[in-house]
Amino acid sequence: MADAQFDYDLFVIGAGSGGVRASRIAAGHGARVAVAEEYRVGGTCVIRGCVPKKLLVYGSHFAEELQDAANYGWTVEKTTFDWPTLRDAVLRDVDRLNVAYTSTLETHHVERFLERAVIIGPNSVRLASGREITAKVILVATGAWPVMPEFAGAEHCITSNEVFHLEQLPRRVVISGAGYIAMEFAGIFNALGSHVTVVNRSETLLRGYDQALRDRLLQITMARGIQYRFNCPFEKVVKREDNTLEVWLKGQPDPVLADQVLVAAGRNPNTAGLGLENAGIVLGERGEIVVDDHAQTSCPSIYAVGDVTDRVQLTPVAIREGQAFADRVFGGKHVAIDYSCIPSAVFSQPPLAGVGPTEGEARSQYGSIKVYSSDFRPMKNVFGHRPERGLYKMIVDAATDKVLALHMIGPDAPEILQAAAIAVKAGLTKADFDATVALHPSMAEELVLMK
Ligand code: NDP
Repeated sequence: MADAQFDYDLFVIGAGSGGVRASRIAAGHGARVAVAEEYRVGGTCVIRGCVPKKLLVYGSHFAEELQDAANYGWTVEKTTFDWPTLRDAVLRDVDRLNVAYTSTLETHHVERFLERAVIIGPNSVRLASGREITAKVILVATGAWPVMPEFAGAEHCITSNEVFHLEQLPRRVVISGAGYIAMEFAGIFNALGSHVTVVNRSETLLRGYDQALRDRLLQITMARGIQYRFNCPFEKVVKREDNTLEVWLKGQPDPVLADQVLVAAGRNPNTAGLGLENAGIVLGERGEIVVDDHAQTSCPSIYAVGDVTDRVQLTPVAIREGQAFADRVFGGKHVAIDYSCIPSAVFSQPPLAGVGPTEGEARSQYGSIKVYSSDFRPMKNVFGHRPERGLYKMIVDAATDKVLALHMIGPDAPEILQAAAIAVKAGLTKADFDATVALHPSMAEELVLMK
């Protein structure tokens, strides 16, 4: 497909999950590829998202394990926790992955420009250095950026971009939002010993997840000491001389005091200042790049994948989109992406995970459904004198017996759900689940024992 008229066959803007996958697959198909990245190769997931977050979840979980250890005969005399040790180890792992992603690009002969690139026409970009580059195809994979709502004192708050670099563990944390990032960091800080208050503008947490699981998470996390303020938009944040932050909430007479305020109010597509107007690229209401089923924008030579298109803001989806784009445009292979049945998880403590519609959604989509559930106390919790219960729900189409959805909260729910999602995607029935012999003793066996 090499075209001497252009400097490259493909120029990718953004070396995150979608951009790196598209670059290396296109290069594998023989395309001459270059990628521009203004921050670090790896993108949000690797550098300041999923990966370092999961390591912090692991790190904080030791609190519970150490507490339980005595029951199992271990003498744990005095435990202390050192935030800089965990923080630096996590950041070192991020460095390792940054190197690994960079070497993947090198191995595939993808040229890297570690600077910002803006589009100046349907087939050309300008780098921050001023150099202009032409390409037959341009792929925008610039991801999304944390939303910082407008309120006085917002400059005293941090987002998920900064939270991995804190100098010290905050004694008191206020988190704005009750979505993925808020609930994951509420769990991390709570387990590490911080006093956590989650504040949301609405009356709920984790909108989009099944109600029964959200209720269970609320109940367990409140018992663990996380405080909630619902229907409480931020009014202002005031910094006192001693650096204490006063978080004033609308309609509340007194502020909540904090050492750090983490704002996790969603992520907007990263399209500002990219020069998209120079190629006539149509944007949607949230500033997202509008694409068709083939990731093509309104400018035929420019494509977009991942969070910048604001379809499903999940890393594995961006990777699939990057792969499908490169296979189709440079490999002549057509691979359709199925956006139904995408499993997802929240690494809260305990974690929750789901695939398929919630009970409410299923009722309105299918009319007649059957709901099976298992509300159980995991063996480990019983032995550890923990009252926390797991909850699994299975939603079945009453007409066909097909399993439409699974929703779970409890230890290891994301690990269990990933495997079970294969069965849901394959269209298996409740009878198929029932016909599978239980693997005992495990939590996952509840899946084949549901009444
Ligand atoms: P979410 O969309 O999950 O949650 C946003 C939260 O902020 C909600 O509670 C919402 O309230 C509230 N909110 C939205 N807008 C405003 C506003 N203007 N002012 C105040 N509050 C507001 O976003 P996150 O930032 O937590 O995460 C961003 C995305 O990153 C997620 O959607 C997810 O796709 C991805 N992600 C995935 C993870 C995973 O797979 N485990 C982990 C982390 C992030 P309400 O909706 O109640 O009105």
